[in-house]
Amino acid sequence: MARLHHQAEQHDESFLKRTEKLYWLISLGFILVILRLWNLQIMAGEEYQLLSRHNRIEPVPIIAPRGRMLDRNGELIATNHPCFVLTAIPDQITETTLSRLAMCLGCKREILQARLDKGIKTRDIVLYENVPWPMVVQLEETSELFPGVQISATHRRHYIHEEATAHLLGYVGQVSEDDLARLPKGIYRMNDLVGKDGLERTYEARLRGADGMLFYETDSRRRRIRQASQPQGLLPVPGEDLVLSIDIRLQNVAHEALGEEAGAIVGVSPHSGEILCLVSHPTYDPNKLVPPVDSAYIRDVFNDKRYPLLNRAINSAYSPGSTFKPVVAIAGLAENKINMHTEITCKGFVQLGQRKFHCWRKRSHGSIPLSQALRYSCNCYFYQLGLRLGAREIDKYSQMLGLGQKTGIKLPSEKSGTLPSHLWARQGSGSWYQGDTVNLSIGQGYLTVTPIQMAFLYAAIVKDGIRYEPSLVKYAIPSGSDLYQTFEPKIANKLDLPSSNMAALRLGLWEVVNHPRGTGRQCRLPFPEVAGKTGTVQVISGLEDEEKPKELMDHAWFIGMAPAEEPEIVLVVFLEHGGKGGENAAPVAKRILESYFNNTINPLEKENSL
Ligand SMILES: [Zn+2]
Repeated sequence: MARLHHQAEQHDESFLKRTEKLYWLISLGFILVILRLWNLQIMAGEEYQLLSRHNRIEPVPIIAPRGRMLDRNGELIATNHPCFVLTAIPDQITETTLSRLAMCLGCKREILQARLDKGIKTRDIVLYENVPWPMVVQLEETSELFPGVQISATHRRHYIHEEATAHLLGYVGQVSEDDLARLPKGIYRMNDLVGKDGLERTYEARLRGADGMLFYETDSRRRRIRQASQPQGLLPVPGEDLVLSIDIRLQNVAHEALGEEAGAIVGVSPHSGEILCLVSHPTYDPNKLVPPVDSAYIRDVFNDKRYPLLNRAINSAYSPGSTFKPVVAIAGLAENKINMHTEITCKGFVQLGQRKFHCWRKRSHGSIPLSQALRYSCNCYFYQLGLRLGAREIDKYSQMLGLGQKTGIKLPSEKSGTLPSHLWARQGSGSWYQGDTVNLSIGQGYLTVTPIQMAFLYAAIVKDGIRYEPSLVKYAIPSGSDLYQTFEPKIANKLDLPSSNMAALRLGLWEVVNHPRGTGRQCRLPFPEVAGKTGTVQVISGLEDEEKPKELMDHAWFIGMAPAEEPEIVLVVFLEHGGKGGENAAPVAKRILESYFNNTINPLEKENSL
């Protein structure tokens, strides 16, 4: 203003020399107005024009919060934590800025450089995730030192129960070329997160939501000045919340009961096909696979010879061993080869030509009916019943009970296992020998199954042949809506089996656990009664147990149903190289069932039952 006054005074003096005194005040007023306009329109206008040439409208994507996952009782198991990310346009980042950033963030410059090199030169990329709050403050306060760099608030996926739910929920990671090839086109951008495994992958479309977009006016240093009025922004739509069928308490108990053992545990409701728990070991912490990833941890997980990323409940098939015997029993009863009273004699072995197939017990079991054959898991009973049926009949009933095919569980890469018919399809039935039938009838040899298949097979035994499709999601709840989608149970197959036959079979399975000499007696509970079947799968023959290294030890199975009278849960425990089914797998099942029934019975019912 001082300058203006000075200029005005100079002009005033020239006017005084050329005009009458009468017009002095009027002229001065005019001149002041003109000077003001000149200042605004010419001088400052140039400045404004200069600024607007460097201004731009910049689209800023607003990442939609991913849908959360809750257990069947409404407990949160996958959620989002608020966090800050650092973004940059590669073209605008100088060497100096990059070095300053690396120093400020305490990370290697090469890591940031690699990110820049991977991005499109003129597009925003995520340079650093999960920026700690003190750094956010420091970077904001010294933003003039970091031209081209932005800090934005976003969310980071968090799995509350860490390792316990890894194989079930999966994890999210940065979208890859492979992901882009399989996902709908035009939705995903570089650096976007996508479900990589588990339910995160299967339900990606529901969980993802739709990202929003805001437009900002930014200055030449990409500092946001204000939100642009045009074009209009779009608010993000959060992903749908999923209420799962899982009981997280049961899931955690199963995870802990498995301890350091490799294997899988699956709990299923036979009345709906709802999965109550699904655990696989060894496992991993999915939180460390969510960007920013822990590179050393990922390297260890991918190189681990115990394959922690493998979901042993569904992605891996094993011999079922004696847990397969009920299938042979069902076929025998249905085809009238036996009834519940028919006795078959165990001499300790069955001879086929020159070859002897032994019972597991050196002394014979004598003449026994089906319930005792199951109770003691007598091999000779099932060798002979298997030979009476033939491999084709056993194969047929295996298929009807869901073996040799995927259960349809909504998790990636399910395996279907192998049945004799798969071999015949490839090599013709001439490649099958009677000895193979003998092995098949006790669940050894060519036959392989997954733990999830066995859970649904036993669930069908509980339901007199009705087998449900596996279900993991009960409800999907869109954000801000009262309308939620219910996933109804669906029947996969209905076997027409006389309930008297199934009752005979269930009696045998009850004896396995509740008879003093039953092979599954280590799963006996005071309440409720448990029924079930043990299985021990020989991995190598000719070695005594104590001579076997861990990787050659037998596989141990136990499949339990409880309460035995009217089962509400079928529980499969599979221990890879875990030893004997009765000695090793049954006690694991006992711990889980004990805890499950103690937790779910309400206190009033408990008092009444005392
Ligand atoms: Zn026997």
